[in-house]
Amino acid sequence: MPILDVKELRTYFTTLRGPVKAVDGVSFQVEKGEAVGLAGESGCGKTTTALSILKILPSNGRVIGGKILFKGMDIVKLSEDEMRKKIRWKGVSIVFQGAMNALNPVFRVGDQISEAILTHEKISKEEADERVRKLFETVGLDPERAPNYPHEFSGGMRQRALIAMALACNPALLIADEPGTALDVIVAAQVLKLMRELKKKLDLAMIMITHDLSIIAETCEKCVIMYGGKVAEYADVVSIFKDPEHPYTQGLINAFPSIKAPRTELTSIPGSPPDLLDPPPACRFHPRCPYAMEICRKEEPMPIDIGKQHYVACHLVTKK
Ligand code: SF4
Repeated sequence: MPILDVKELRTYFTTLRGPVKAVDGVSFQVEKGEAVGLAGESGCGKTTTALSILKILPSNGRVIGGKILFKGMDIVKLSEDEMRKKIRWKGVSIVFQGAMNALNPVFRVGDQISEAILTHEKISKEEADERVRKLFETVGLDPERAPNYPHEFSGGMRQRALIAMALACNPALLIADEPGTALDVIVAAQVLKLMRELKKKLDLAMIMITHDLSIIAETCEKCVIMYGGKVAEYADVVSIFKDPEHPYTQGLINAFPSIKAPRTELTSIPGSPPDLLDPPPACRFHPRCPYAMEICRKEEPMPIDIGKQHYVACHLVTKK
């Protein structure tokens, strides 16, 4: 049984102009010890999917359909109290982007982590502090720095501290939302290396949210390519990069430089992501797709398994 099984998830936001269908029928699974990447342009529903899993949506957001099964338990049906006691921190935790702002500047870093432990577990302050020291070691921080304040840490150290905090209650699933954003390239690479090591060492299941496909190539086993709140393509990472079938996936890959491939011009995807208040009918990608046909404007393509659990939602595949 997968650790996480997201089935036909629909999360909408109520706005004065009407409902925004931010996530509209998204399905994917995460197995124990496996990392799954959620990729796509800004506004495609990646972060909303993560917030739905943790039930921490903004007040105007609501899961209106589908299931989120965590170890077989449907998170959608759980109360706020059950989420606090059973899921958040102990079951699923998240590392948000922007390490600069996620720590409280007026409290010591170690205390912020031990506070999180004490809120969720009945252990003594001494035991929590000891765990903080071990967590610091796990993420490559000097435990002697636990009494420091956030402003005494570099950006990379703060990101490591946030990862330590997310691991504080031994979650089975860690969600990382753009973990390298706002860090310089070298520090971001170190943080990603750390995440890979932690996944292996702790047998963690992970969801890596990013618009950067190279991060997914380096850290994940599977990849969900999202477009306009829907899954365009979902497969193991090798299939996604070697045999992308969806024109949007092909466009994303062509827009990224490869150091191994022969030198070619990078091609961007023309146009911009859809307005989810009024998305294009049928295939949401059709206004930008170089292969759009009549049927693409009339019928929504459903995801089809083209073999080895490689799902593609595109009429080109149906016609093959
Ligand atoms: Fe392009 Fe049509 Fe496939 Fe959509 S369904 S990606 S418009 S070919």
